[in-house]
Amino acid sequence: MAHWNRLTQELDQWRREGRYRPLTVWNSGSGTWMELNGRQVLQMSSNNYLGLTDHPALKAAALEAIETYGVGSGSVRTITGTLDLHDQLEQELAQFKQTEAVLTFQSGFTTNQGVLGSILSENDVVISDALNHASIIDGIRLTKAQRKIYAHKDMDQLEDVLKQCSSFEQRIIVTDGVFSMDGDIAPLPQIVELAEQYDALVYVDDAHASGVLGKHGKGSTDHFSLHGRVHIQVGTLSKAIGVVGGYVATSQVLKDYLIHKARPFLFSTSAPPSIAAACLAAIRVLKQSSVLQDRLWQNTTAFRQSLIHLGFNTGASETPIIPIMIGEPAITMRFSDRLLDEGLFAQGIVYPTVAQDQGRVRLIVTAKHTDADLAFALDVIARVGREFGLI
Ligand code: PMP
Repeated sequence: MAHWNRLTQELDQWRREGRYRPLTVWNSGSGTWMELNGRQVLQMSSNNYLGLTDHPALKAAALEAIETYGVGSGSVRTITGTLDLHDQLEQELAQFKQTEAVLTFQSGFTTNQGVLGSILSENDVVISDALNHASIIDGIRLTKAQRKIYAHKDMDQLEDVLKQCSSFEQRIIVTDGVFSMDGDIAPLPQIVELAEQYDALVYVDDAHASGVLGKHGKGSTDHFSLHGRVHIQVGTLSKAIGVVGGYVATSQVLKDYLIHKARPFLFSTSAPPSIAAACLAAIRVLKQSSVLQDRLWQNTTAFRQSLIHLGFNTGASETPIIPIMIGEPAITMRFSDRLLDEGLFAQGIVYPTVAQDQGRVRLIVTAKHTDADLAFALDVIARVGREFGLI
């Protein structure tokens, strides 16, 4: 198998560094207690923030759509793949996000690729936070725009870069709304002010803010009351919305442009009808009541405070993403493995996803975790934490 020599060597290297991870195969849906190898395990690692993945209204909408439309959309959006369900979802999402228009994509990842890949030209500069998500980085890589990176949330550096970039045709500042590894929130008000001062567009990826921040989960723009001042809001339908997909909430002009230009939109089959219907049902659940979002935040605040009280370092977390900072990659993964021995699944995250000395176990609180679930998790984390000398 000479073809695979280089790959085998790399895999061996990752094994030696403790970075090789076989996939964890679950035997049940993404609830709180999940079956793993015949055992019930409490999981605190999914992005199912509001517990919508098995919500009755979403399931009923998906089943009805399958009965009415079948299981696949049959085509890309520009041919026979735009069903009235897709259109309705985009209209209701635009109304929910308070923007002129929304265009949906098959995932949040392809949304960033499609939007960034389409709007940036060689005469533009894109100015990106150092901790932005991989899909933003890859989207930027698809373009010939100049790239500038500012240190994470460093507004002085952002201003310095903006000052140096006045000669470009267009300046675009790109940031995650909530950062996926640390759970901190972007300083959007300051970013918007700088953008207005230096004539830049603002692009926010709200993958972890959709359904989590803002009234009824409208996202970071709503959280900071910045409606009309953020030009491009990307969201995902795969996390708090509980299904799969992505979208961009923006102007009608940009939507029209993307329909003609965004390659993942043009050249990949649209979401199945059941997916569009379930997403539509999810948006209606969000609009109807904030009970789930309120519960999510109660759980988040109580759980983070308890961890800090026990003596753990939860880094910069301000949202349901709560890391326990550990450092060394190998120790981080051993800590995560020990939690699993004790019945708690919490993903270890190490280099290259985060810096070499920034290994952490990332816990994600959801609205579905009960008080008893959180008490169980805290007990396990405290015991294993003492074993590792972390507290
Ligand atoms: N942006 C961010 C910040 C994310 O964390 C993710 C998911 N990991 C994505 C985009 C991609 O979203 P999706 O899973 O819908 O492709």
